[in-house]
Amino acid sequence: MDSQLPTWRELPLGGVILEPGNSVRRKTGDWRVFKPVINQDACIRCLLCWVYCPDGVIHILDKPYTSSKGKTWDVTLEIDYDHCKGCGICVEECPVDAIDFIEEVK
Ligand code: SF4
Ligand code: SF4
Repeated sequence: MDSQLPTWRELPLGGVILEPGNSVRRKTGDWRVFKPVINQDACIRCLLCWVYCPDGVIHILDKPYTSSKGKTWDVTLEIDYDHCKGCGICVEECPVDAIDFIEEVK
């Protein structure tokens, strides 16, 4: 028997989160087949996508954006593609169809 192996007492408990926030290191975006892309010009900043995203990967950046029609918003929305799983909920919930859902190309 290999004496280097941990004993059962040394194994971490199953199903228990030992380190809060460790999911940031798991890049779940690899699962994605379709990718949401926000059309910053069409977006009315209602933030429904931010509310509904089950993974909290839509970030509200403190970055002004001026649309092609001259409307200036205080914020810009950005999707964290490392962690967006491509579930499409944001696409469904957007009231003005400002999120395109395009096939992922890798
Ligand atoms: S596709 Fe799903 S995980 Fe990705 S940003 Fe939209 S709601 Fe969030
Ligand atoms: S739901 Fe649509 S309009 Fe509302 S903030 Fe998100 S992308 Fe913009």
